[in-house]
Amino acid sequence: MRANTMDGRDIDLKQDALDGLKMRLRGPMFTPGGVGYEESRTVWNTMIDRKPAGVARCLGIGDVMTCVQFARDHELLLCIKGGGHNIAGLATADGALMLDMSLMRGVWVDPLRRVAHAQAGCLLGDVDRETQVHGLAAVLGFVSATGIAGLTLGGGFGYLTRRWGWTSDTVVGMDVVTADARLVRASIDENADLFWGLRGGGGNFGVVTGIDYALQPVGPEVVGGVVAWPASEAPRVLELYRTLAAEAPPELTLVALMRPAPPAPWLPKDMHGKPIVALLACYSGTPEEGEKAVATVKSFGHPIGDVLVRRPYAQMQSLLDATQPKGRRYYWKSEYLPRIEPALCAKVIEHAARIPSPHSAVVLFQIDGALNRLDGAHSAVGNRDARYVLNLAGSWEQAGDDQANIAWARTAWSDMRSFSTGGTYINFLTEDEGPERTEAALGKGLTRLAEVKARWDPQNVFRTNRNITPT
Ligand SMILES: Cc1cc2nc3c(=O)[nH]c(=O)nc-3n(C[C@H](O)[C@H](O)[C@H](O)COP(=O)(O)OP(=O)(O)OC[C@H]3O[C@@H](n4cnc5c(N)ncnc54)[C@H](O)[C@@H]3O)c2cc1C
Repeated sequence: MRANTMDGRDIDLKQDALDGLKMRLRGPMFTPGGVGYEESRTVWNTMIDRKPAGVARCLGIGDVMTCVQFARDHELLLCIKGGGHNIAGLATADGALMLDMSLMRGVWVDPLRRVAHAQAGCLLGDVDRETQVHGLAAVLGFVSATGIAGLTLGGGFGYLTRRWGWTSDTVVGMDVVTADARLVRASIDENADLFWGLRGGGGNFGVVTGIDYALQPVGPEVVGGVVAWPASEAPRVLELYRTLAAEAPPELTLVALMRPAPPAPWLPKDMHGKPIVALLACYSGTPEEGEKAVATVKSFGHPIGDVLVRRPYAQMQSLLDATQPKGRRYYWKSEYLPRIEPALCAKVIEHAARIPSPHSAVVLFQIDGALNRLDGAHSAVGNRDARYVLNLAGSWEQAGDDQANIAWARTAWSDMRSFSTGGTYINFLTEDEGPERTEAALGKGLTRLAEVKARWDPQNVFRTNRNITPT
C-alpha cells in the first residue's frame, strides 16, 4: 500500500507490516475501500478531502502507544483525529497513519474534588452530559459535536470563559503518549514544561489520551437563548450589544451575529433567508438573576423571534449545533478584538449585507474576564489581551460557490483587521493561513514552544498540526 513518510517520501507499506499492526490493536483498523474508512477520513469541513493510508480506531492507551511506535519504526506520517472539527482539516493527511480517537469517549466525574477525567475522543456534549449529572460543568465551547482534544489544546472558549478563563486554563492534568511512545503525565507538578505547551500550543507534543478538567457549579437550569430582529434594526441592536457587553457581569456572555435567517421554527416563515441581527445570551448564575440580566435584551425594539428563556444548561450547549452540520463547505477568518467600537459595528453591518450564502454569518463572541487576569506567560495559549472574537464564518454547499464565499470572508476580514489586538485564535485558522498567522496566534510563546518541542518531539513526529519547529 502507498503511504507517506514523515519527511514526505512516498513508500510502499507492506501488507504484512499492516497485518502485524492490526493484530496488536484492540480497536479496528481500516484501509481505503474498507468499512469505516470513509467515516474516519472525512472531517466536518467538506473542503478538506484527504486520504490517509490507514486508520487505527484506538481503543485505549495501549493502542495509541502501539501506533506511535509503529509510525516511528516505519517513519510513517502520523495524524490524530479528535472530533474532526478543525476547519483546516488538521486531523487528516494524505498517506498518513490516522489515529482516530472516536472510541475513547469515557468520562469519569469526581464530584467531591470537582474534577472530570475525559478520554481524548470525547465530544463536548459527552463531558457536559456527565458533569451535569452533578450540577457541574467544564469550560467548553458552543457546539456540542466539537472534539474536546483539539479545542482544549488550542485554548478553547465558550459561555463560561468570562468566569473561568480559556478551557486550557481549567485543565489540571493530561495523559500523553509521547513521540517515543511512552505514557507520561503533564501537570503543574509533573513535566510542567510539557503541560505549559499543551495548554494552547496545539497537538505538537504527543497524543493526549485523557484530560482532567476542573469543574464549576453550573445549572442544571440557566437563562439562555437568542433574540432576533430584522437587519434594519442592526445599528441600534449592535449599539445595545456594545454597551451591554462592556458592563455585563461575568456570569453573562453575549454574542452578536448577523446572517440570513435560518429556517428555524422560532422565526417567522416569511423571514427565513432574510437578513437578521441576533443576540445570543447565556447567564450561568441563578435563573432568577439571569432573567433580570437579560431583561434589556428581551424588551428591546420589536424582535421577530425570542427564545431567550430558562433552559437546561446541556441544551444551551447544543443550541447552535443545527447551524453547523458536518458536510458543508466552510471558510473562516478571525481576529481577537480588544473592544467593540462603533466603527467596527458599522463594518459588521456592511459586510453582513454582502453575505453570498444562506448559511454564513458575521459573529462577535464576548470572552473577556478571567482569561485577562492571568499572566501572559501562564500557558502557551497567551492572548491575555483578547476581549472579543470576530469570526467571519463562511458556510455554503456547492463547490462551484467556493470562490464567491471565500472572497467574501477575505474581503470582510481585510477591511476589519485594523480593529484586531494583532492576535488570532489558532483553532479558527483555515488551511491557507501560513506561519505568520500561527505566529499571530501564538505570539510571544513561540520561542518557548520551540524549546518544549525540541525536548519532547525533536524529530517532529507530531507535525500535522499548526507545526512548531523544534530548536
Ligand atoms: C462548528 C464548530 C464550532 C466551534 N466552536 C468553538 C467554540 O465554541 N470554542 C472554541 O474554542 N473553539 C470552537 N471551535 C474550534 C475548535 O476548537 C477547533 O476546530 C478544534 O480543532 C476542534 O477540535 P477537534 O478535536 O474536533 O478537532 P480535530 O480536527 O479532530 O483535531 C484538531 C487538531 O487537534 C489535534 N488533536 C486531536 N486530538 C488530539 C489528541 N488526542 N492528541 C493530540 N492532538 C490531537 C489534531 O491532530 C489536529 O491537529 C469550533 C469549531 C467548529 C467546527
